[in-house]
Amino acid sequence: MISNNEELNHDFFNHIDNILKIIQATSELFISVHLFDLKENKLIPIKTNERIRQLSENFSSAQEIVSFVMENVSAPETLDSIKEFTTLETLPERLKDKKMLSQMFQGKYLGWCNTMFVKLDEEVPLRYVLCIVENVDKDVKRIKALRKTKRENSKLNSIVDALMAEYTTVCSVNLDNEHVEFLRTSERSSNVLNEGNMEPIYHNLINYYIDNGIYQKDRKVTKEFFSIDNLKSIKSGASKSLIYRNEFKEYGETKLIRTGKKYVLIGFSEQKKRIEEMKEIIFTDSLTKVKNRKYYDEELVAQKCQGLVMADIDYFKTVNDTYGHQVGDQVLMMISKALKSCVRKTDEIIRYGGDEFIISFQEITKEALETLLEKMREKVEKIKIEEYPNIQLSMSFGAVFGDSIVEKMVTTADESLYVSKENRNMVTIVPYEEQKVLKYNLGSR
Ligand code: GH3
Ligand code: MG
Repeated sequence: MISNNEELNHDFFNHIDNILKIIQATSELFISVHLFDLKENKLIPIKTNERIRQLSENFSSAQEIVSFVMENVSAPETLDSIKEFTTLETLPERLKDKKMLSQMFQGKYLGWCNTMFVKLDEEVPLRYVLCIVENVDKDVKRIKALRKTKRENSKLNSIVDALMAEYTTVCSVNLDNEHVEFLRTSERSSNVLNEGNMEPIYHNLINYYIDNGIYQKDRKVTKEFFSIDNLKSIKSGASKSLIYRNEFKEYGETKLIRTGKKYVLIGFSEQKKRIEEMKEIIFTDSLTKVKNRKYYDEELVAQKCQGLVMADIDYFKTVNDTYGHQVGDQVLMMISKALKSCVRKTDEIIRYGGDEFIISFQEITKEALETLLEKMREKVEKIKIEEYPNIQLSMSFGAVFGDSIVEKMVTTADESLYVSKENRNMVTIVPYEEQKVLKYNLGSR
């Protein structure tokens, strides 16, 4: 039923001649261009493809062709809106105040298309309308990809912002050429870090941020952490974090974030407060509230001190056996409190195990150590438990005086405790260097 151009009235043909020229020039862009004669319900092909042409032959009205074509090429989810859009009898009404109607749909065969109805005259009722179907699949896909990238970028940007807010030093590493660029430097790090290649910077980072001395284990972990292989192993948008200890024994956190194919951000933060709080919980003995064995093993053992004491409650088993475990617990708490009240802020008390305590002293003279220990011994001796006035407590102290690390001093402290235990309720101090036991019988029962 497709009309030939000859069937158009002459006026219209003149009118449309120029439009046809434009369409021919741009027809590459369009899948199909049809002229609709709404009055005659005819569809005049200007440009068409084989599929549409074949379909057109089987239908008797423009509406039937349009409906069939749209229903068959558009994706199911857009079908309803397309049906509405291509109802030709409502077109004049919808085009009343417009020159053009346009709608995108996703076709089954060609992907994203744009259909436009363009009003060609002002005849009332409206008669001639041009229908152009344009394939915009590539454009839409490109825009969608751009949008996705933009969304991903904004996500990454907010990660970077968050990182920058919390971290005092932030640099980005180019994984291709290992170039490091600093985005932010703390006052401390700006003295040691300059832009450049990863290799020297990476050594500086490790040397600067990670303690070089006794924490060899940390150092090895960190070296692997900063390796290019590790940086490359992080997926885009993902991150890895490491808690480290610097040369001041302060805790900090470093975070690696892969911000794209090419870049990894490295952020350093001094998370002192958070980590100190965590440490407080992990390293505190829940019963006595002094430091625990874990603290001794992981922290104190490697530290320097000038005086080290091992102290053990005398006949503690008897307290437990006679008055029960709960009273024993109460005794442990009271003794810890008594010891605490004698030491200075810089000294540390550790419940080493059972009824055994370790006390480490910083910057202390031999005389001051003697005085403090005697004070402790006396204080324990004076403890009174209201409900059990018969309990008489005492403690034995073995001390070493010198200047070394706790790990080395502890053996000697243990030996001098052994000496004190011979009589109990006694303090024994030995000088570290001489390794020779000298007895100070400062008190006995
Ligand atoms: P000595 O004078 O030789 O030190 O004798 P002692 O009876 O104190 O013996 P020792 O130090 O070897 O025994 C420690 C006891 O402490 C053994 C154990 O039952 C008790 N103990 C260990 N931990 C706890 C605890 O958390 N609460 C209580 N109540 N008792 C504990
Ligand atoms: Mg004991």
